[in-house]
Amino acid sequence: MKRKDIIEFEVGKMEFGGVSRSIYEGKRIKMKGGITGQKVRAVVKKSRSDSGEVKLLELLEPSEIETAPVCRHFRQCGGCSILSIPYEKQLEIKKDQILDLFDKAGIKDYEFLGIQGSPSQYAYRNKMEFTFGDEYKDGPLSLGMHKVGRFIDIVTVDDCRIIDEDFRKIMVGTRDYFEEKGLPYYRTFNHQGYLRHLVVRRGENTGEIMVNIVTSSQVDYRMEDYKDFLLSLGLESKLVGVLHTINDGLADAVRCDELRVLHGRDYFYEEVLGLRFKVSPFSFFQTNTKGAEVLYTIAREFAGDKGDGKVVFDLYSGTGTIGQLMAQTAKKVYGIELIEEAVVAANQNAGLNNLDNCEFIAGDVAKLVTSLPEKPDLIIVDPPRAGILGNGVKDIAEFGAGEIVYVSCNPKSLVENVVEFESRGYKLDKLKLMDMFPSGPHCESVALLSKLDVDKHIDVEIKLDELG
Ligand code: SAH
Repeated sequence: MKRKDIIEFEVGKMEFGGVSRSIYEGKRIKMKGGITGQKVRAVVKKSRSDSGEVKLLELLEPSEIETAPVCRHFRQCGGCSILSIPYEKQLEIKKDQILDLFDKAGIKDYEFLGIQGSPSQYAYRNKMEFTFGDEYKDGPLSLGMHKVGRFIDIVTVDDCRIIDEDFRKIMVGTRDYFEEKGLPYYRTFNHQGYLRHLVVRRGENTGEIMVNIVTSSQVDYRMEDYKDFLLSLGLESKLVGVLHTINDGLADAVRCDELRVLHGRDYFYEEVLGLRFKVSPFSFFQTNTKGAEVLYTIAREFAGDKGDGKVVFDLYSGTGTIGQLMAQTAKKVYGIELIEEAVVAANQNAGLNNLDNCEFIAGDVAKLVTSLPEKPDLIIVDPPRAGILGNGVKDIAEFGAGEIVYVSCNPKSLVENVVEFESRGYKLDKLKLMDMFPSGPHCESVALLSKLDVDKHIDVEIKLDELG
């Protein structure tokens, strides 16, 4: 096997994060994508004496485990990678992959409480970020998801299963509307064009929907007309806000240079476990609401009564969901969150929920955490994919809180952080997995870390000594 060779083989083990490992002519080969048991054709990218890296070219034969119904865009759209695997099997695969990460890191002697599935397997997304483009060079306007492994080509996912009818109506309607107007999409390679993204967000438990159309400033189009079009769509959800974001940034990401409110308000409400949250357009909010309710319930169970009447830190607090759930029984909750807009909303939300014992502060956890005015009895962390960075683990561990509940969206960084917590006087007690992203490669984990009771340990030793 040498570079540029085209090879055919059967896909072996799937690793967490969407990479597969197989054996070809005695060599270990790594590939992005692939489902165990598939027969595939791939091109060799790197070849070493005992291993190599290949790129998938073509599926020759599906795997025996691919028995679930798929949508029309499956294998073309970069959104879902394991839609073809029945849900129970998806859960088993994710569970094995994550436990493997803990095993390999040498983390042992903890209680594993299994993996819990999402309450809905389909139509579970409360947020979608669609991109404007074309499906092939100079093709008609498309609006949807990036094609798998492609930066430019976009597929209009009108048969998508992880979103519901309103999302599809808005996506297809918007595509048709702008196609008819003949407006150009924004090309990331030369930064020319107008239409960039369409962000749709919904409060699942309130039925409120918010649409945000993102464009460059290169065309002066009268967006009020588009707003009227959206209002005429006859959606099931209540369209509470239509926003127009101007973004002239060069990166292919939603950023805001200017926000114009075309209709209603620039926020929507969502309800989670009986609490009400105002969500602003650029704030993080879990993208599977019913799943989030399960996730937060697990976090609350792990916290037990440890925060009752005590001081709790909610680090990486977003719109303050976890902190406010804890505030119902805590003495005081301090939250830290990077995005200023989310912090403003979190403090307003606390007021809205009649909680006067919460304080959400804007800033970087790694910089701010040591400057909070009180010491915590319980710490809850919910960092982004990269995990807790810098001195974060050290600073958090040095508070000496009895328990730390770690909610994680990336088991790889969770494992790294748990190893560091274990070197700083904590021990992984419990782990439970919660799948928030059916048909995608990700999975949430909740871990309970307890402080090793060194003093108690010494007490016991002294008593044993005294007993002779
Ligand atoms: N706990 C919240 C949000 C979790 S997502 C919820 O369940 O809804 C992670 C959050 O961490 C995001 O809101 C992100 O803006 C924030 N964040 C990322 N890096 C950060 C940092 N260095 N310091 C503080 N917050 C950060």
